[in-house]
Amino acid sequence: MQIHKTIKPIFVCKFQCVGPECLMTCCGRNWSITIDKKTHQKYVLSSRADIASIAKENLVLLRKGKNNYSRVKLNEKGECPFVDENKLCMIHRDLGEEALSHTCSTYPRRSTRYQDETRHTMTLSCPEVVRRVLFDPDAMLLQEQDELVAGYKTNLIGQRQSASQTQQVIHLFAWNLIQSPSGNIEENLMALAQFILCLQHVNFDLHNRFAEVEDFYEALLNELQSGKSLLSSGHLAKSNAMKYLALSVMGTNAANLSAQGSFALEGHQQIASYLDVASISDEAELEAKFDAINQQWHRLCETSCLSEPYVLRNYLLYKLYSSYFPGKNMATIMRQFYRIVLDFFYIKCILSVRSMQGEIDQQVVMKTIASLSEKTMHNTTIDARMDFAIDKINGGDDLSCLLLIG
Ligand code: SF4
Repeated sequence: MQIHKTIKPIFVCKFQCVGPECLMTCCGRNWSITIDKKTHQKYVLSSRADIASIAKENLVLLRKGKNNYSRVKLNEKGECPFVDENKLCMIHRDLGEEALSHTCSTYPRRSTRYQDETRHTMTLSCPEVVRRVLFDPDAMLLQEQDELVAGYKTNLIGQRQSASQTQQVIHLFAWNLIQSPSGNIEENLMALAQFILCLQHVNFDLHNRFAEVEDFYEALLNELQSGKSLLSSGHLAKSNAMKYLALSVMGTNAANLSAQGSFALEGHQQIASYLDVASISDEAELEAKFDAINQQWHRLCETSCLSEPYVLRNYLLYKLYSSYFPGKNMATIMRQFYRIVLDFFYIKCILSVRSMQGEIDQQVVMKTIASLSEKTMHNTTIDARMDFAIDKINGGDDLSCLLLIG
């Protein structure tokens, strides 16, 4: 027998699909919906003539094993043919939840099973998940439950090895640094960057140098809580060219791949037209534009729906939780941090530029993050492509991501 832990953040426990009230609905976003063999037969042979007929016409046979037996052919708007005029799923409406395929019944839920624990999360491509994560102060509190399981159930196919003790301890330190009260969330990011440098300095040898690392961590927490800025210590040379490159990379790898008219693409186009680099004649002009974005961002963080301190903190905690930061490979810790910073920087720029043209509210934030996450969280090659792009931005030094903070 062994103890197996189940971990669920509060937002996972509280989530409920809002169905027809949804801002984006997952059934109409050009996604690949695969159908298992049993469900395929159920639809094709359904006593509901309309469902059977849609199934016969729109389920394309793949025959790639039981789980990938067929795929739903989406209509010209990228929508699922089973969605009715009220944006309701006909299968769910007429045959009940139990008739849904695995893909449809589990979305937006995800879980990762390790030998000693299962971690549950949900994808931010669902705008309701974004709302639950960002706008509930308790969203990222974790609920843990222990269960006694038989030995043979602790070694299942597909499950991952338990996280090492070092990974778990670093995860906890990182979590506390992001969660700590501070002047603004960028300070927390900078504290985490400095903590990573300390870990690299001691070669991640927590076994022998724990006291040193803990002292450094305590000092960072004190600085965050005392209101002393880690950002203004003069080591942040400005690099507008790098910021511009970072925006281009995110445009190519995320926004431009999303559906026409999507919030992400619209946001990226607004940034491009705001910066309008073709008309810029000198470096000072570009710097003034990035300064204006920064000022607008600070305004948003003080007066908009982003102003509660838990909103952006929850977003970053979600990122740490869902990637189980820093992952198994300590050698890539700064690269993982880079990805978080780049994503944060992009969302900051999109929301700041959009808010220069009109107020932003919770719904704009939900749609922006969901539409970006659709590309960054539903794509198996995105990390490799982003790594390739980051190598181009950073000139071989991942620490340069500090230039994107603040
Ligand atoms: S995107 Fe989320 S809230 Fe919207 S229909 Fe899908 S699961 Fe429900």
